Amino acid sequence: MNILDIHTHVLPQVPGTALVCIGCGPLPENEEGHWFSAGLHPWDVTEDFENQLDALEILLANPWVPAVGECGFDTLKGPSHDLQEQAFIRQIELSERYAKPMILHVVRDFDSVIRLRRTLKPEQPWLIHGFRGGPEQMSQLYAQGILVSFGLKNNPESLKSVPSDRLFLETDGKTTIVQTISLASALRETPPQTIQNQITKNATNLLSPR
Ligand SMILES: [Zn+2]
Repeated sequence: MNILDIHTHVLPQVPGTALVCIGCGPLPENEEGHWFSAGLHPWDVTEDFENQLDALEILLANPWVPAVGECGFDTLKGPSHDLQEQAFIRQIELSERYAKPMILHVVRDFDSVIRLRRTLKPEQPWLIHGFRGGPEQMSQLYAQGILVSFGLKNNPESLKSVPSDRLFLETDGKTTIVQTISLASALRETPPQTIQNQITKNATNLLSPR
């Protein structure tokens, strides 16, 4: 596995260098050699989300889909919090059943994520993508076993202070991973190649079956 970009929506030029989020599918036609995450985005949850999850379950049986997501909470967009939570809990069950970690989309509702992590005690790691919170919030999440990844828009203090074995970078399909790596490299005063080696290693650890 050679993943640099832990969250995007577009196929990378070099197959296998990104985890490409495809919602509940289908897989793109030129999918060979690419890695995918599949999940029901909180914006897309409908009343009959169980049907959406049926499609998701088929994808999760595929070895080229090593992660569930993005899923989670968005207080600014999408259906009611209650419905978002029901769909999220069902996806936690799938993540545990298929032994695949989760990539989370969380807008202004870290409390719900922490509450569910505490009460349900899942074994799979969770990673919040596009994290823009401060170091204190990051430590609170780490204390619950929740990881974060950084895109170009981030809190520099957090990106500076994250331990190298927990460093994850992403594009969310909006930039190139080279840009995110150079930003991290400048902030952390670490050569880009070293950053690259760290994030590949961390992505491999995160996505290897456990
Ligand atoms: Zn995304």
